[in-house]
This record gives sequence, C-alpha cells and structure tokens, in this order.
Amino acid sequence: MNYDLIVIGGGAAGFFGAINCAEAQPKLRIAILEKTRQVLSKVKISGGGRCNVTHACFDERELVKNYPRGQKELIGPFTKFKTTDTIAWFKKRGIILKTEDDGRMFPITDSSSTIIDCFTKEIKKYSIDLLVGMDIIEIEKDGPFFTISARDKKFQASFILFATGSSPRGVSIVEKLGHRLVPPVPSLFTFNVPDSPLLDLAGISVNPIEISIKGTNLKQKGPLLLTHWGFSGPAALKLSAFGARVLHDCHYDTTIMIDWIPDISKEELKHRLEKFKLQKPQAKINVEEIVPLPKNLLKRFMEMLQLENVRFASFSKKQLEALINILKFSSYAVKGKTTYKNEFVTAGGVDLKEVNFKTMESMIVPNLFFAGEVLNIDGITGGFNFQNAWTSAWIAAQAIKERFNEKQ
Ligand SMILES: Cc1cc2nc3c(=O)[nH]c(=O)nc-3n(C[C@H](O)[C@H](O)[C@H](O)COP(=O)(O)OP(=O)(O)OC[C@H]3O[C@@H](n4cnc5c(N)ncnc54)[C@H](O)[C@@H]3O)c2cc1C
Repeated sequence: MNYDLIVIGGGAAGFFGAINCAEAQPKLRIAILEKTRQVLSKVKISGGGRCNVTHACFDERELVKNYPRGQKELIGPFTKFKTTDTIAWFKKRGIILKTEDDGRMFPITDSSSTIIDCFTKEIKKYSIDLLVGMDIIEIEKDGPFFTISARDKKFQASFILFATGSSPRGVSIVEKLGHRLVPPVPSLFTFNVPDSPLLDLAGISVNPIEISIKGTNLKQKGPLLLTHWGFSGPAALKLSAFGARVLHDCHYDTTIMIDWIPDISKEELKHRLEKFKLQKPQAKINVEEIVPLPKNLLKRFMEMLQLENVRFASFSKKQLEALINILKFSSYAVKGKTTYKNEFVTAGGVDLKEVNFKTMESMIVPNLFFAGEVLNIDGITGGFNFQNAWTSAWIAAQAIKERFNEKQ
C-alpha cells in the first residue's frame, strides 16, 4: 500500500500533523497507522475527560519556561505556531476554548469528545486513511521510499511523520534507524513523605511556598497542597518535572526543603518575633499575626515545638531559632512518588540534537519527521504537553508540504 505520507501513531500529534498536511497540500495521499484499536485515547482521558487543550500564555519566551526539556528548542517553533494559533485553529472549526483562573484552556463543552469529533470529521473531509491495529515494528529506507512494516502488512511512503508518543517500542524503531534516544523517566508526580508530621492536615493548600531538592539548585515557588501521602499542588508538580532525572537517579529517595514563608526573609521574621516579644511579653506566642499561614498548619508547628502555651517573656533564643527553622527551612524525607491524577508524562525520547526544529525533520534520516511526546520534550501540567504536540505537528506538516511540492 503506497502513500505520500504515513503518520505513525494515531494520537494528538499524529492526527494534528495529518490534518494540517492535508489542508496545506490536498494532493498528498496520507494514512495514519495506529497500533491499538482506539485512536486519540490520551486525548479522551486528558484533563479529567475535559481535555486541557492549551494554556493562556501568549508570549513564546514565557511559554517555553513551562518545558523542563525542550525549552531552548521550542522557541523557534513557537514563533511559528503557538497558543494563539491553537485557539484560532480550533475556532476555525467551530470549537471555542475557555480559560480557567489558572490559565488552563478547555473546550467550552468541557468534553474531550469535542476535540475527538473535530479530528474525526477533519480526516474524513480530507480522505485521510485511518488504519487501526497496525503495530509498526520496523522502518527501512529503500532509496527515496520508506518501507514500513506492521506485523503482517507492509506500506510504502515518501515521508514519515513519526508520532508514537512515549511508547518505548515506538522509539526503539527510530533507534534502529540511527537515532540516539534519551532514556525515558517519569515526569509530573507528587511526593510521598510517609513520615511527614503533616499527613493528617491533607487538603490544606499554602500559597506561596518554596520547595527545593536538598543538595541541588532545583527549586520552585507556588501553591503547595498537603495530601494524605505527602505533598502535591503546582509547586511540587513543577519541581518533579524539572527534577525528573535527578529524582529518578536517586530512586525518589531524597530530602526536600520547604520554606513556608518565602516572601518573609529570615531576618524579617526574626525582627517581627523580637518586636512582639518586647511589645507583648505577657502574651502567648501567637505567630498568626506575624506569618500568613493556615491556622491548623501553624498550630501543628507550635505543637511540634511545644510552644503552644509559652509566653513571649519566656521565649528563649533557642526556641526562636527553632521556630524560624521550621517556618523557613523544614526538611522532609521523600520515599517514592505518586502519579498525579493519572496524568503521567514521560521525559526522554528522541535526542533533540538530532532534529531540525525549523522543520521537525530528522538530521539522520531525510524525510523522516517527528512530532509530540516521542521527542525528548515534556511540559508541566496545564495544557503545555498538547501545545508541544500541536506545534511540532504543524511545523512538520508545513515542511512535508514544501518537500512534496518541490518533488512535483
Ligand atoms: C491521563 C492523562 C491526562 C493528560 N492530560 C493532559 C492535558 O489535559 N493537557 C495536556 O497538555 N497534556 C495532557 N496529558 C499529556 C498528553 O496526553 C500527551 O503529552 C499527548 O497525548 C502526547 O501526544 P502524542 O500524539 O505525542 O502521543 P500519544 O497521545 O501517546 O499518541 C501516540 C499514539 O501512537 C500509538 N503508537 C505507539 N507506538 C506505535 C507503533 N509502534 N505503531 C503504531 N502506533 C503506535 C499509540 O498507541 C498512540 O495512540 C495527559 C496525559 C495523560 C496520561
């Protein structure tokens, strides 16, 4: 079976690439080959079934900061196709995206089926063949053509858009073609802290805190959520993404530090406590008036330091130092990780040094293009992973169109 373009992988990047290729050059004969019987399965479950399509971040320099891997490489592609283009692309197809308070953007229907229906309609409109149950096991280059082998079928194509996501078998196919792979490790997870004295305070959210990995420069500031098993929330998730490899290498057995009041310096805190001590010596130590933290959390800290009934008059220097330490330099022993709402994302994949980001073409094998999570690119939670899929697929589609036109 011969095609001009074969897209391997029927996920977000594969569909978006195929549709944009067909729109740019309707003469292209295109097929999407999908291993499973169910296409767009991640889109379906994404964002809790609502599909967080992109993020309301409209400046590419800001946008790239949300990618622990791919930050430098995505700058160029985002100047060509970024969040505003995603919004316009869906709008052109009758899908309006709305923005939530934290910047995440969803279809107004609050349903991922809206996106799936749109893609399904588009591939029909452009007569793109969709072949499911096609587990691709090998690609060979025969002169100007690729031979693509599924278990019991062979295909030929002039161009390949490789979009198999983070599937290890998928990436091993391109490894055989000479690509170097960055080993996969999980990204975006929450921290297990079984010995945390705060486990029963699950549900409390503190904003902002600063969380860091001891012995590294990795730190994040933002909201933290106390959970029954440790810590979650945007700051913890972001730290897990930026620290994905370091954390993997230490088997998720490490120490994290939390500054519960990053906007108040140690000196300022000391000054405020000493001032209170002078002004209200007979008052019980009441840090609620000094630091903006949830009542129950402060109460726990005071209990841990046995300061609940101590008056300022008898507040020793040692106790003052201990209070400062718990508020500014708390340490917690991490023992493992937990997946965040099943939103597992993988760091690792095709080495970015071997991809031309002007075209998304392989620098090793001409006419082989990449899009989506198969690349060593991953974003934090918030719609950034899909944005990478849309952008890389769109860039590849334009380049494939150009290359096809040159051949005509
Ligand atoms: C539960 C969950 C929720 C998520 N929610 C969000 C969200 O709301 N917003 C966001 O931005 N990101 C989200 N993500 C991340 C996002 O889903 C991925 O980054 C995105 O789907 C990557 O798209 P892709 O097309 O590169 O890969 P995929 O969507 O994984 O698609 C790859 C496809 O290739 C197929 N394939 C693999 N190997 C082969 C082979 N050898 N032959 C043929 N086909 C093959 C696979 O079966 C699959 O269908 C979520 C992830 C999960 C798991």
